Parts: sequence; C-alpha cells; structure tokens
Amino acid sequence: LEERLIIRGSGDELDQLAETINSLLDRIAAYLNVKRDFLANAAHELRTPLAAIRSSVEVALNGARSPEEYEDLMVDVIEECGALEALVNQLLLLSETEAELPVAQFQRVDLNDLTFKAVDMFSGVAEARGVKLRVGRVDYALVEGNRNHLRQVLNNLLDNAVKYTPAGGEVTVEAIVDGTSVRLSIADTGTGISNEEQQHIFQRFFRAESARTRSPGVGGTGLGLSICQSVVHNHGGEIAFNSVIDRGTTFTVTLPLADSATTEESPFQGSG
Ligand code: ADP
Repeated sequence: LEERLIIRGSGDELDQLAETINSLLDRIAAYLNVKRDFLANAAHELRTPLAAIRSSVEVALNGARSPEEYEDLMVDVIEECGALEALVNQLLLLSETEAELPVAQFQRVDLNDLTFKAVDMFSGVAEARGVKLRVGRVDYALVEGNRNHLRQVLNNLLDNAVKYTPAGGEVTVEAIVDGTSVRLSIADTGTGISNEEQQHIFQRFFRAESARTRSPGVGGTGLGLSICQSVVHNHGGEIAFNSVIDRGTTFTVTLPLADSATTEESPFQGSG
C-alpha cells in the first residue's frame, strides 16, 4: 500500500485514473490502520482482567492464609470474569452493529415500550446509587429498526447517565415526537465531560479521565458510545450531546419515525 501508481506520458484521463486509484489506496491504508489499532486496543483491554484473574488464582493456589482470604480471592476472580464477559459481549455487539444490517431485516419497533422497559431495568441500580431516575414526557413512537440494537442504545445511555451521576443527582428520560422524527433525550446532573475530552467520547475504548478518577468503582469498556453511534447511524438517525463539567450531560438521539404509509393504515385510507 506504500506503492503509488504512476502512469507516465499519458493523457488527462489516465492521470485522473491514477489519482483516483491512489486516493483509494490512501483510504484503504487509513482503514487498515484503524483496524490494527482497534485489535491492539482490544487485546490490551482483554489482557487487563485476565492478568488480574491469573494473579488471584496464583495467590489462592500458593496457599491463601485463611478460608476468608481464599473466598475474597475467588470473589475477585468472579468480578474480573464479569468484566471480561462484558467486554467480549460489547466487542461482539460492536462488530455486529458495524456490519450494518440490511434494512430489509428491520422490524417495526415501539420505542415507547423500549424506553419504559429500559427505565424499569435501571431503576434498581439508580436507587442503589442514590440517583433519582425520572421519566418525563414519552410520546408514542414507532421506528423501523433492529430492536435489540436500539435497546442497547437506551441501555448504554442510561447506564452512563446513572454511572456518572453522584448520589443525590437526577436522570431524566424523555421521548418527544416532532414532525417525522422522535427525539430521545437522557439528561443527567452528573460529573459532565471536560471540553478537551468531549471530542473523543465516541472513539472506541476512550474513557475520560474523570470517569476513571471521579467515579471510583465505576467500570466501563469505553465501547458503549461507539456502539450507540454506529446503531443510530445505521438507523438513519443522529446522536448528539451537551455537557457541562460538574453540571451534567444530556444525550439526544433523533430517529426517523416509521413511514406511516406502511403501517396498519393503508395509504389510500383517509384521503376522502
Ligand atoms: P464507558 O464504558 O467508559 O462508560 P462509553 O463509550 O459509554 O464508555 O463512554 C465513554 C466515556 O464518555 C466514558 O468513559 C465517560 O468518560 C464519558 N461519558 C459518557 N457518558 C457520560 C455521562 N452521562 N456523564 C459523564 N461522562 C460520560
């Protein structure tokens, strides 16, 4: 890919062809670089929990001093296995979402139902962390898409909102239909994201410094938002956010509504 196509002494059209091929080669090279970095990052992230598992098991095998110590070590092992599992699941999901499912496989998804189910799922975690999880206005909205992928978007955004909001804070979920689209918003009163870090948050494996230091005990893979972005784009939507450090963050996902002409209603009805 370092090689460049040179066509000497040939007319404009051949020059143009060479230029096109060379720019394609550049794009392929850039793509391969991204893939290589991704693989290196993934391997690195997988090695961290594996190393922790190995070290706990080694200490346990070499004679933990008491049954309590042994038990503690095994609890650590289970926790690290959980982290490993979460990472592998997210890697699989990311590769699935980036493969861009054919639109023909999309189904009609009730976003309203999905939203309430996601909120239900996180209400326990939120309560345990002392965060108030509120549902604001949630309009009825049907979208065309992959139900499982859309569920993951909601789950990742809610998970982050609850994770990065200290006790006493609040998370508010809304879904508002506006014309031919629905705008889903998840607003929190949490740690916020610094200006410098805002431009990186959709990058795979990126975790802001504050996520590591100011939300202790809060794990993450740095893949959640990459997955959200790829799913939302596959659905012809947009994902955006607004964040102020120490004030909070609002993520907004805008998705096109399912075409009403293909719903239960016939396009010929109601025209008279
Ligand atoms: P993670 O698994 O670390 O949560 P994500 O890809 O979901 O990875 O998010 C990337 C980073 O963006 C997080 O590590 C965190 O620093 C920042 N972030 C995401 N959502 C929020 C939020 N609601 N409040 C503050 N920071 C956030």
